[in-house]
Amino acid sequence: MEITEVRVKLMENSDDRLQAFCSVTFDDCFVVRDLKIIEGSSGPFVAMPSRKMTVHCPRCHCKNHSRAAYCNQCGEQQQDTGVHNDDSRGKLYADIAHPINAECREMIQARVIQQYHVELEYRDQKPSGSFQRQDTVVDEPATVQGPHQGIPQEVAESPLESDDGFVQKDSF
Ligand SMILES: [Zn+2]
Repeated sequence: MEITEVRVKLMENSDDRLQAFCSVTFDDCFVVRDLKIIEGSSGPFVAMPSRKMTVHCPRCHCKNHSRAAYCNQCGEQQQDTGVHNDDSRGKLYADIAHPINAECREMIQARVIQQYHVELEYRDQKPSGSFQRQDTVVDEPATVQGPHQGIPQEVAESPLESDDGFVQKDSF
């Protein structure tokens, strides 16, 4: 199995440790999205896509974060197993897709970090001669940090263009 494409979307003005979102394509046929590049104490590392674990409230059956103390919906105190360690309410996050051995993890991480550095160099080259770049660039979701905002969809074609002249603006 080979990684045939890595896409990295750098976070603009990232104030926390999250540096980028990325997607990885295997063998030109399977893509995994929402990997994250996190700035760690010993350099950047790759976090696998994950989701927040939820549990159902025993009273109203609404979903809550697995470590919530009270239900978001009805306020009922959530059950505590009585064992006060890190696992008392289970994991807060669970990986959606992940390597199952160290060799694969290192292979993915190496390729992603390599592309991450390429993107960093590219970004550092672009603003040359423009000190006001951050003020002039308005088309990038700089403040959006949600997990589903990382990799933009392919630029959608304008319907006016894709219809190849069939639709004429004047006709409206
Ligand atoms: Zn509830």
